[in-house]
Amino acid sequence: MSSTSREWIRQPIIVVMGHVDHGKTTLLDKIRGTAVARKEPGEITQHVGASIVPASVLKKIAEPLKKYFPKLQIEIPGLLFIDTPGHELFANLRKRGGSVADMAILVVDVMEGFQPQTVEAINILKEKRVPFVVAANKIDRIEGWRPTPDAPFLETIRNQSQRALNLLEEKIYRIAGELYNHGFEAERFDRVRDFRRTVAIIPISAKTGEGVSELLALITGLVQQFMKKKLVTSSEPAKGVVLEVKEEPGLGTTIDVIIYDGVLRKNDLFIIAGKSKPVVTRVRALLMPRPLQDMRMHEGRFTQVEEVYAATGVKVSAPDLDDALAGSPLYVIPDETKLQDYLRMVSEEVSELRFKVESDGVVIKADTLGSLEALLEAMRREKIPVRLADVGNVSRNDVIEASVVKKSKPEYGVILAFNVKLLPEAEELAAREGVKVFQSNIIYHIIEEYGKWVKELKEKEV
Ligand code: GDP
Repeated sequence: MSSTSREWIRQPIIVVMGHVDHGKTTLLDKIRGTAVARKEPGEITQHVGASIVPASVLKKIAEPLKKYFPKLQIEIPGLLFIDTPGHELFANLRKRGGSVADMAILVVDVMEGFQPQTVEAINILKEKRVPFVVAANKIDRIEGWRPTPDAPFLETIRNQSQRALNLLEEKIYRIAGELYNHGFEAERFDRVRDFRRTVAIIPISAKTGEGVSELLALITGLVQQFMKKKLVTSSEPAKGVVLEVKEEPGLGTTIDVIIYDGVLRKNDLFIIAGKSKPVVTRVRALLMPRPLQDMRMHEGRFTQVEEVYAATGVKVSAPDLDDALAGSPLYVIPDETKLQDYLRMVSEEVSELRFKVESDGVVIKADTLGSLEALLEAMRREKIPVRLADVGNVSRNDVIEASVVKKSKPEYGVILAFNVKLLPEAEELAAREGVKVFQSNIIYHIIEEYGKWVKELKEKEV
């Protein structure tokens, strides 16, 4: 585009996944704490929806690990962590045929092993082909463990009794077995020979910090070895995803965006998917969080910037965002004559997910494009046919659709709703028509409840 076009290696985008209470938030806090505590003055680590652990921190962390990773040179500008862990925001990191996330950390509580959301996360990562490492968390809870705060794992094990080490080995063996059941070979990270074939398990404690530096060093090493090409970006029109749509006092509706390619500038024309139709608008302001100490001196939580470079998280203020849809792709339109091409592209991408077919299948509703896609994928996995898929609250019309199916295929005459409300008039009609609505903000709960109900239905028929 511009005459000063240049290329750079961007930060890889990392997500943290895993079962509830296994320590995802604690781990992210620990990582952010590490980044803040060891950061060089002047470096911004806080982005919108994401935090960056800069290269300077990675270098310090890697230093004591030289003896274990002798060849580790830091070549990336840092690691970008998505701040909110779990499935929901991960779903919104969608891009056609994959994810914007370059790598995932799957957190597993060593004491509990695999749980339903661990399995769900694995399925999602498999479908999206996102490579991952396993953080075997809470090693400090192993009986007789002697914590060594913030020590690398390979150092802390020198302080442990043989009994504690044996107990740990059992737990890791169990996690490796569970991974094997899902089609993955897995090993403790220091014993892995070929990282392309084997999933690395890094024993950590998010609470004491043990093993966390190795986790970061390992991710850095893997990314640099296997995906550096993918991280090359240039000063071209930005591509991103809408992570969240948010009301902000004084700004109206804004979108939090992860930019994974190119540059986004003030006044850029861009397109995203909307609830009713695609939204084409211009960047009014690009907003970054203010550093904490700055916040006391200045009004407001955000500070304006003129442009942002991939990879980053940024808040975009623009006219006409009320209709914006989380999980939508964002493309900067370099030139207005190309508008029609972009409109077609975004409409096609969205109609793959939001559709209505005249066949016997369930009605599914979700709150964002990302969660709708996750729900659709779950339906595919469970072999449940879908008649209508859409974003938004459950409406009267959805109930009518389901009641039509109910007459010929009772088991499919239902509505499966993820993280949305049942509108009062829909509730009334559903009660009258006997249409079941399965609602939850956890996908596997919806499927489990629906599965139980189908079973009961079949038993009644016999
Ligand atoms: P999330 O739901 O996966 O985000 O889990 P949280 O990070 O909220 O952690 C759940 C609970 O486990 C909290 O009480 C944490 O303090 C605790 N926890 C997390 N990591 C560790 C750890 O490494 N060791 C111990 N002992 N507790 C932990």
